Amino acid sequence: MAVAAGKAAIAIHGGAGAIPRAELGDEGYRRAREGLRQALLAGWRVLSAGGLALDAVEAAVRALEDDPMFNAGHGAVFNAGGEHELDAAIMDGRTLAAGAVAGVRTIRNPVSAARRIMEASDCVLLAGSGADAFAREQGLETVAQDYFSTDLRRRYLERAKLAEAGKLERPASEAEKHGTVGAVAVDALGNLAAATSTGGYTNKRVGRVGDSPVIGAGTYAANGACAVSGTGRGEYFIRHTTARDIAARMQFAGMGLAEAAHAAIFTDLAAHDCGAGLIAVGPDGTVAMPFNTPGMYRGAITTDGVLCVGVYGDDFSVVETLG
Ligand code: ASP
Repeated sequence: MAVAAGKAAIAIHGGAGAIPRAELGDEGYRRAREGLRQALLAGWRVLSAGGLALDAVEAAVRALEDDPMFNAGHGAVFNAGGEHELDAAIMDGRTLAAGAVAGVRTIRNPVSAARRIMEASDCVLLAGSGADAFAREQGLETVAQDYFSTDLRRRYLERAKLAEAGKLERPASEAEKHGTVGAVAVDALGNLAAATSTGGYTNKRVGRVGDSPVIGAGTYAANGACAVSGTGRGEYFIRHTTARDIAARMQFAGMGLAEAAHAAIFTDLAAHDCGAGLIAVGPDGTVAMPFNTPGMYRGAITTDGVLCVGVYGDDFSVVETLG
């Protein structure tokens, strides 16, 4: 695939707190890496044809939402009521236009509903039944709750209920509790965009909304600064306005992308002992992916077309170079 003039790049994540290697097994590990690769390629097809960063992040996040490996869309975690409530957001760094959904229950690809809110409504954030109705009116694909459910996530809910009752023998891993998917991209013209989508936390209180759909917390993009998508305990991302703070550190304190992203995870959020990670990209295609958990599903295609994916701290590696 030929890259259009300029310096396009994309980065994605599938959540911090990756499943322990022994539990994931060889097949799970291979599937996770392949799922990341496919999502990157979905975004790269857009970018390499000279398309918009906004279209690229939507395409990548849709691929991750459709993949049951990740906690978003199909494969989302269950809330305390044994149901799925999904959050998502998208932001266009060109204009600071943004759209988001919170607590939706029937939209197959919440990120596309967020995009539609951004472009076809006068709102930024729509929640609950009103957001589900809006998606239906807009002709987006809707599904029954069962579509999102998987046996693995059901087991995680059962274990979370046992933990609540003090009856769990082995403590729940980070991966059992949460996860999220996200994408950030810069296109050939230097435009930035970010998108995030999640089922939130296993056994979360019904109605709980995390950081992913809160613009400036789990999702943010501003041309000339950066695009950011976060993963981790959403309540802390909201309180720190984490994604926006990274842009602010760059805009007002003159920090570079890597330094600003590192400070968000290892200074701000570290103070709460909060397992967290994020992906960020700058206008020149620089990518940062800090995380403080044992793993974060992640991948990137750099400006020179090198596709890398990783799950744990030490396995981020080149998969292929795109021509
Ligand atoms: N940030 C998500 C939330 O709080 C969860 C995660 O990323 O793991 O809903």
